[in-house]
Amino acid sequence: MNLYGDYHTHTIYSHGSGTIEDNVKAAINKGLKEIAICDHGPGHYLYGVKKKNLPLMREEIDRLNDKYSETGIKILLGVEANLTGFEGTIDMDDKLIKLTDILLLGYHYGVIPNSISDGVGLYIRNPLVKVLPIGRRSAIEKNTKAFIKAINNYPINFITHPGSKAKVDIKELAREAGKVGTALEINSKHSQLSVESIKIAMEEDVEFVVNSDAHTPEDVGQVGKSLERVKEAGLPMERIRNILL
Ligand SMILES: [Zn+2]
Ligand SMILES: [Zn+2]
Repeated sequence: MNLYGDYHTHTIYSHGSGTIEDNVKAAINKGLKEIAICDHGPGHYLYGVKKKNLPLMREEIDRLNDKYSETGIKILLGVEANLTGFEGTIDMDDKLIKLTDILLLGYHYGVIPNSISDGVGLYIRNPLVKVLPIGRRSAIEKNTKAFIKAINNYPINFITHPGSKAKVDIKELAREAGKVGTALEINSKHSQLSVESIKIAMEEDVEFVVNSDAHTPEDVGQVGKSLERVKEAGLPMERIRNILL
């Protein structure tokens, strides 16, 4: 069993500590065949990647793919896009998506919403229903529908840490994600997918991916915590896209 690639790593272009090249070198040292540089989407007002930097990152990654071609590493440019509204909007447009090789989607606090009501629902109601049961069920339904719309609107490779911060109906999300070929991430930095969520999701016809969510080069390829949860849930390794059997 081997990790083929780590598809969720951050750099100084958002709030990681390493450069793209630092992450690439770490990936080579760990024997990975692929690494994706996926900084936070531009809609995050604290540490989103600057739109003007994406073409520069594209150039840098093309250059590094040449420089390290003999090692066999393949470097992908991606973005961890943010869900910005209940109509399935995200903080990437077609022009920006064209620059990337892979597109991730996640929910994060601190993102500029698509509208005021989206902002209230996503960033005020979700933290509230974590502590208060009133409205929790309807918040879960709305979050789930928003993710499902987004994966139908955009070519999302996988959803990052599904259910962290904004609760979702994992069974419904897994079923619909499977239909459009979007995988669910078992993230080593976040508690989601949890063992319980993996057990529910694996009943549906959906694929999974394990990632480090590294914010430092040292963490690139570190997916031990994800694999512990995979084993505990009894998820067959062949259902994980980036594990070589
Ligand atoms: Zn994230
Ligand atoms: Zn991340």
